[in-house]
Amino acid sequence: MAMAIPIPSRQLFINGEWREPVLKKRIPIVNPTTEEIVGDIPAATAEDVELAVDAARQALSRNKGKDWSSASGAFRAKYLRAIAAKITERKSELANLETIDCGKPLEEAVWDIDDVAGCFEYYADLAEGLDAKQKAPVSLPMENFKSYVLKEPIGVVGLITPWNYPLLMATWKVAPALAAGCAAILKPSELASVTCLELAEVCREVGLPPGILNIVTGLGPEAGAPLVSHPHVDKIAFTGSNATGIRIMAAAAPMVKPVSLELGGKSPIIVFEDVDLDKAVEWTIFGCFWTNGQICSATSRLLVHESIAAEFLERMVKWIKNIKISDPLEEGCRLGPVVSGGQYEKVLKFISNAKSEGATILCGGARPEHLKKGFFVEPTVITDIATSMQIWREEVFGPVLCVKAFSTEDEAIELANDTRYGLGAAVISKDLERCDRVSKAFQAGIVWINCSQPCFSQAPWGGKKHSGFGRELGEWGLDNYLSVKQVTQYVSDEPW
Ligand code: NAD
Repeated sequence: MAMAIPIPSRQLFINGEWREPVLKKRIPIVNPTTEEIVGDIPAATAEDVELAVDAARQALSRNKGKDWSSASGAFRAKYLRAIAAKITERKSELANLETIDCGKPLEEAVWDIDDVAGCFEYYADLAEGLDAKQKAPVSLPMENFKSYVLKEPIGVVGLITPWNYPLLMATWKVAPALAAGCAAILKPSELASVTCLELAEVCREVGLPPGILNIVTGLGPEAGAPLVSHPHVDKIAFTGSNATGIRIMAAAAPMVKPVSLELGGKSPIIVFEDVDLDKAVEWTIFGCFWTNGQICSATSRLLVHESIAAEFLERMVKWIKNIKISDPLEEGCRLGPVVSGGQYEKVLKFISNAKSEGATILCGGARPEHLKKGFFVEPTVITDIATSMQIWREEVFGPVLCVKAFSTEDEAIELANDTRYGLGAAVISKDLERCDRVSKAFQAGIVWINCSQPCFSQAPWGGKKHSGFGRELGEWGLDNYLSVKQVTQYVSDEPW
């Protein structure tokens, strides 16, 4: 088993320096596996946010922007590559810290850190490519005018992130924001900020110009809300719950401040009758229970064809019984604890509500007997569900899979889209024409065919309906932090 390493004690990261919060408050870090306090993080308030925003604004205007925002993309790319290299250098340490902080199995944390480094590298490439895309001509219907487009950094951006992929979710925003030439203030989740504070140390070590990335940890209402309402923050990019997203959108509205929102989901996976059962079972389990079920795009509603439902469920339950639930630092662990005591109570409440509404708990539903400490919940499969039930309609954000059988393709699609959310959706079938039809019919921003959850820095990520709007990753992620300016010139000697 990997040994837990001590958590470094850090301060806020403002203007390239560690800085104690003005009110000197701190928040304890609870290891969800042991329930022990293993350190603390600084708790920023509006006073610290003010300093961070000020540092970011000054960083953009330093040397009239030539030091960052109007420097070449290639210049900024060098920093992004240096950050990626440092992260790779510290991979096992960062993965270990991520596991202690949020409870995800170490092997998954290692993937996350690899993805973090890959994402910084990817946006370094896009930053380099940005220079060639400037002054792209626009074809006009009148010859006496010439027009082109400039892509300019939006300015100072506030980035607010959740706890399920602490460093990766931060990177999805930080890397493109920096590539675009913005200066950023990152506010990670108070439940998992440790690796984001290590990102600050990485930025310090690579000599990122002061104020370009500021990291203020703390509570949502105390550190996040002042960032949203700050008049000198030009954009908010948010990933988190639907309720907080709505609050942020409302707070930004009076300033007509742009927001992008990556919110929750209740994503479906449709399994047709022609599948290879074992492969389909494996993807279904991975799609719902990976990262302890705390994935925004978790395919947590299984729709399985009635002709294979009994056999499918039997195989799935057998498979689930073999999932290793343990200290996430232990080798081979596939399911660790959920992130906090609050989340543990919430997940168990969803399960007990489902029971009292008449659903059946096919397996799981409680704390695993062999683990007396830690916020562990067994992988849980629920059947006999009516579409009016809370467990069908609301995001659990824990290891809970809802199952319904269907008889026709149309019925499957109707059930799949029977949700206010629209983040991910998966279809498993050997009939690729059918997969194509179903993909088009899904009301979701991300569709997986014959798999569930793989995610690549190059492909757009984001939802529809109540799952939010705006796209992260790929070129779309860079566009989130760029403002498009039209420049049109009158080129004729003739009078107008
Ligand atoms: P959350 O909404 O509770 O918190 C998210 C962030 O918002 C935290 O940093 C929090 O401190 C901050 N915050 C809270 N109140 C605020 C306020 N009033 N003003 C500004 N900031 C505030 O979400 P969470 O529990 O951390 O994360 C889980 C949620 O995130 C789930 O719903 C999940 O589906 C969603 N999520 C979505 C995606 C996606 O890509 N769509 C990815 C990961 C997680």
